[in-house]
Amino acid sequence: MTFHPIDVIQHKRDGHGLADQEIEAFIGALVRRTPENPTPTDAPSDSQTAALLMAIFFRGLNPQELAALTQAMRFSGETLNTASLNSFCVDKHSTGGVGDKTSLLIAPIIAAAGAPAAASNQSADGQPYSLPYSLSDPMISGRSLGHTGGTLDKLETIPGFRTQLPLDEFLAIVRQCGFAMAGQTPTLVPADRILYALRDHTGTVESPYLITASIMSKKLAAGLNGLVLDVKTGTGAFMSKYEDAQLLANLMVETGERAGTRTVALLTSMDQPLGRFAGNWVEVMECLELFQHFSPDFAFTLSPEKLRLSSDLLNLTHALTGHMLHLGGKAATPDEGSALSHRLLADGSAYRHFLQMVELQSTDVAAATAAIANPAAFHKRSATRTIAAGSTGYLAGMDCTQMGWAVQRLGAGRTRPGDAVSAHAGIEMHAKLGDQVLKGQVIATLFSEEPRLLAEPEQMLRDTLQIEPAPAKTIPPVREVIRKEVAG
Ligand code: URA
Repeated sequence: MTFHPIDVIQHKRDGHGLADQEIEAFIGALVRRTPENPTPTDAPSDSQTAALLMAIFFRGLNPQELAALTQAMRFSGETLNTASLNSFCVDKHSTGGVGDKTSLLIAPIIAAAGAPAAASNQSADGQPYSLPYSLSDPMISGRSLGHTGGTLDKLETIPGFRTQLPLDEFLAIVRQCGFAMAGQTPTLVPADRILYALRDHTGTVESPYLITASIMSKKLAAGLNGLVLDVKTGTGAFMSKYEDAQLLANLMVETGERAGTRTVALLTSMDQPLGRFAGNWVEVMECLELFQHFSPDFAFTLSPEKLRLSSDLLNLTHALTGHMLHLGGKAATPDEGSALSHRLLADGSAYRHFLQMVELQSTDVAAATAAIANPAAFHKRSATRTIAAGSTGYLAGMDCTQMGWAVQRLGAGRTRPGDAVSAHAGIEMHAKLGDQVLKGQVIATLFSEEPRLLAEPEQMLRDTLQIEPAPAKTIPPVREVIRKEVAG
């Protein structure tokens, strides 16, 4: 049957369900466009694609249409052949937050859980073991988006760290140390690149159906057997309303399960920066200090107060890894998975995996090792400002999106795609929501590499950090777990 893009647009516009073949034909034709030949026969133009996106925005997609769109996008380019790893591949995806550095802790914990029985994956002569990791995490991450940070920007503050890896090298690193962390390649899910750019210009970014297809097509193209989604809700989340986050989580879980990937979503609070720091290197530093504090191989210890300020980060990490380890068959329940995750942090095996991954992904291992060994010394605090409590009371609230924008404007984020970001800019929180504070007590420190960038974020924090006479009601970090098994 001849394919005409306008038929698909009209069907969706008029509220009819689209057949799988219509969706596949539309996406297939879309990715046949090239810069040299932007209008091959039958390929939808930008205006036709934008019209379909708007029709989806208003009409939504039924579960079958959403599954078909996601699969068509997933297979629109190369996919990661994880079958060659002989491993259960599990990953997590977060919808984006402020100070959310869980990926840096999670991937090495998963690798440590999947490591072959010997303590390391290298034999005495330095050769990789032939035994595969029983569990691994091929983690494809993103960059800072809007007010939220990006794992790639954080990792790139490690000297020489490469986040752009060819797929075969990416897989070789996963095979060797149980995980790798890198960015999207141009050949993975090219349909999303085209659709995302058009959504950005047509007011259709916020559709939960389009967000689901965008996120899930990329995660499924990474060849995952299991996926745990961290769907944020609260003042710092893209989906600030609980019901919106709940709908998105349900759509993503159903889409993952229909595609044969065991999928669980945790709805989690994003009402304050996660942990102690938000920025780029400062977030890597927070993780390194936690790794070193817990690892028996290091003499380094964090003060009880610093540990307390990172406890929400640790709790969320272990909640997510608990579900990942459960999906991957390493624990009978998510709670047992969390307990195993604690042990893998405490016995140093997760940290050893992190160090091994850096060794494989950095082009300057000596400089990376020196920075990692003493992360506080590597942090250039060229310009700082402190925010003190204006009255005695309780830290009762903040607009966490404003906190995220403040971090970005200190230099940690970019205003245009491709701009460089500051490694050392960021915020340190000295108090968490619900903490009692005294008038004059420092509750936050701002860092920038450029003194002129301090004034606006300073004012933003002063405006948004609320001190009240009574403590506010606390919100649980994990508000709901969504899982479903789809028949067939
Ligand atoms: N992240 C994505 O990858 N896609 C979206 O649509 C939104 C967030």
